[in-house]
Amino acid sequence: MSNSHLGTLYVVATPIGNLEDLSPRAARVLGEVAVVAAEDTRHTSRLLRHLGLSVPMLSLHEHNEAARVEQLDQRLLRGENVALVSDAGTPLISDPGFVLVRELRARQRRIVPLPGACALVTALSAAGLPTDRFLFQGFLPAKAGARRQRLEALELREETLVFYESPHRIRDTLQEIATSLGERRVVLARELTKTFETFLDGTAGFLLELMAADPDQARGEFVIMVEGAVVRGSVDAASLEANALLEALLDEGVGVKQAAAVAARLMGGAKKTWYAQAQTLKETR
Ligand code: SAM
Repeated sequence: MSNSHLGTLYVVATPIGNLEDLSPRAARVLGEVAVVAAEDTRHTSRLLRHLGLSVPMLSLHEHNEAARVEQLDQRLLRGENVALVSDAGTPLISDPGFVLVRELRARQRRIVPLPGACALVTALSAAGLPTDRFLFQGFLPAKAGARRQRLEALELREETLVFYESPHRIRDTLQEIATSLGERRVVLARELTKTFETFLDGTAGFLLELMAADPDQARGEFVIMVEGAVVRGSVDAASLEANALLEALLDEGVGVKQAAAVAARLMGGAKKTWYAQAQTLKETR
């Protein structure tokens, strides 16, 4: 039997900070569907308002997702189209939607993904760590014991490891990475696509020192990327070069502030970050 008279579930990625990242196709579909199933309707109503849209919404979060399946399927059966969105980025990626999509796919409903922002892919695309193989781990468990166990189980994995983390736990998690995974390159992507977007690069211990020198570096949303167990390719030339430059300036008696200004000018990036890095180097000499 043909399903052509049934509605479609559109899985719509939304921005992770910068509203310009919403695709024209996503904006059109959000304006055309009968209902938007949203992780948090208040949050999504701001996005819809920004787009000048007024569309009925229905909440769909981890506590009511199973119950919503029937309700939304009834709409599809009536030929209505439905959009699924989460607060930010791609639904189902550390966000609700998996149960709905699994159930509707089992019923052979039409499901169309609309690609867009996803923090892990955005972070990897600019980190300079191998991306041919990576292992996304989402959020580590909240409890310290379980977190350590998870990290220790990853110790020998060769893929780049990718984690999501909140500002409440970023320091604890970096500490745990230093203890369980040892001296490895870690790239921390913070506040992607937002005003204070920052990439920090170094060992977990070094990043903790940077945060101690500049607590702003511990604020916001994070993607943590950790080099896999076997180092492939050359040593990270750029970060070695950056540290060598700072060391040389400090050796020549240039002050931390001036060294940071020179480094920012030559290598790019924020003076503040360079300042924290120069300060740490000076203190650890
Ligand atoms: N579905 C989203 C996606 O596609 O990336 C992820 C949702 S998950 C609940 C939220 C986590 O994603 C944050 O705690 C953070 O780790 C990461 N994240 C989301 N937006 C981010 C951003 N702008 N910068 C850095 N990390 C971000």
